[in-house]
Amino acid sequence: MKIQFLGTGAADWKGVPPSIPGYRFFSSAVIDDILLIDPGPDVFLSSEKFGISLKDIKWVINTHSHEDHFNVDTLNRLVAGGAEFIDFGRNDFRKLGKYEIRSLAANHSTCEDAKHFMISDGQKKLYYALDGSWLMYNEYVLLKEGADMIVLDATIGDVPGDYRIFEHNNLNMVRELRQSLKPYVSRFVISHMALTLHGSHELLCEKMKADSIEVACDGLTLTV
Ligand SMILES: [Zn+2]
Ligand SMILES: [Zn+2]
Repeated sequence: MKIQFLGTGAADWKGVPPSIPGYRFFSSAVIDDILLIDPGPDVFLSSEKFGISLKDIKWVINTHSHEDHFNVDTLNRLVAGGAEFIDFGRNDFRKLGKYEIRSLAANHSTCEDAKHFMISDGQKKLYYALDGSWLMYNEYVLLKEGADMIVLDATIGDVPGDYRIFEHNNLNMVRELRQSLKPYVSRFVISHMALTLHGSHELLCEKMKADSIEVACDGLTLTV
């Protein structure tokens, strides 16, 4: 399974000129060229910038309706191009081609429908957990069955006392999650970084290296 990050930024990147160094589009990802997670407003701009083709997108799924993750014009354009929107509820399960996708409620209550996805292609399993603070108990139970990669929310850097910890993770929360999940999950990747709560991408990579946590950047392709 292949994941390509179209965007890795949080909502506070809105209005920032894409020309600034270290720019991040709103968080969105493509699996194996055919499954798109989160039709946010930047999807087409990003696909053009990084040469990530969207012409074979067959299914579009959405974590939640916050405007950095869902844009109706983007969705309509993808649907016009032949994609189908698969509207997951929470605790839903669908088979899409060779993929089995399970959705679980996320701790992201500023949006009532927020969910995370376990995506299996029959060989590898990817858990996509943006947005959300920490993980719920039933997510832990599912992850105990094993996963090859987890993509975790890291909106907040190492800013102490930030009120957003009740809807997003800071870096210490990510480190703690890894300590508890590492018997079951092979690789840890962070995404959804806020502009105002992080330094440079390079600095963040350096910070997370000791804990074997990878940092996503726009245009990055990883093999799960
Ligand atoms: Zn977001
Ligand atoms: Zn959100």
